[in-house]
Amino acid sequence: MENGKWKMENGVPNSTLHTPHSTLTILRPDDFHIHLREGALLRAVLPFTASVFSRAILMPNLSSPLVSVPHVQAYRNFVEEELALLNQKNFIPLFTLYLRHDTNLKELADGYKNNVFFAGKLYPSNITTNSALGFQDIASVYPVFEAMEKLDIPLLVHGETPDPDVDIFDRESVFIDKSLVPIRKRFPNLRITLEHITTSHAVDYVLSEYSPDKPLKTGATITPHHLHINRTDIFSGGLNPHYYCMPIAKREEHRKAVVQAAVSGLAPFFLGTDSAPHVRTRKESGFGSAGIFNAPSALALYAQIFDDEQKLHNLETFASRNGALFYGLPLSSDTLTLKKELTSEKTDDIKPILTEDMQELVQFISPKQVFWNGKWKMNYF
Ligand SMILES: [Zn+2]
Repeated sequence: MENGKWKMENGVPNSTLHTPHSTLTILRPDDFHIHLREGALLRAVLPFTASVFSRAILMPNLSSPLVSVPHVQAYRNFVEEELALLNQKNFIPLFTLYLRHDTNLKELADGYKNNVFFAGKLYPSNITTNSALGFQDIASVYPVFEAMEKLDIPLLVHGETPDPDVDIFDRESVFIDKSLVPIRKRFPNLRITLEHITTSHAVDYVLSEYSPDKPLKTGATITPHHLHINRTDIFSGGLNPHYYCMPIAKREEHRKAVVQAAVSGLAPFFLGTDSAPHVRTRKESGFGSAGIFNAPSALALYAQIFDDEQKLHNLETFASRNGALFYGLPLSSDTLTLKKELTSEKTDDIKPILTEDMQELVQFISPKQVFWNGKWKMNYF
């Protein structure tokens, strides 16, 4: 199959990708890392993901984390009821089990075989929202990894060390060197996704594990916000809590390395928005929560980066193919047409989303100009 088809609206082919009034049609993408939360928050954010993405992997760090199969099943029932209300039949949510050192191995095997969950998610303790139950000593989770390797259950990793003495900007690199390298050595066939990578160190690690002629065992998701902001942006013109997330944005050289990984089209790198909404009052306060809400504009934000790098022809590979192939899922047969406008969307026009209990969710707004927009068209086949 061919890659994303680039075409001008007036039908005249053009080699420059910066031409206004253009469209891009790609296979319907997947979001392989998202926080849809629960209750009123889930009802407010679910339509943005379900209307665009073919599938999404839902994270288990709810207020009561999904540490057992019955927990996952209950959440699954809730999400499926909400989807039925939305009449979204063309969206498949994939669920995750929150891994612990004491994860019940029989329950793990049975739950996976019965398709209750799709993957296991590993959090270092207290690294992000609702992760107090995460690991402190990674070796204590090895028996769980061993079972997952045997059953070929994907291990999704929030790759930051929980060591509070490690500088916040170094936590990803330290995790890779001290935890991930030993895990890979001990469990060579475990399918591992290093989630939301933010550093050149992570890019180099993933590439070091990649060989086109060997089965792919290490993948990485990349968020739109880590492609758009560096750590300086968090503080430009005042502290912006809506640019605060975990892992925190790094130096510009790291952002550039992650951009190059995303636009490369290489098999290990794929789309995972890590859209992680919190209501405005939890973001704009002392000890504000980590998490960026990007779901309404995620695809446009990705498209802009690929456009800026003159790599739009690789957007479909990154957004709709690499992740599905890594997880052994079929490609979507639907297509989605994205649109580029002459003028970038005015940031004043990007309004907060209201939840049913009248709380505001502030959307991620890029410091860069974004000409691609959310007025896409879906074609179902
Ligand atoms: Zn996340």
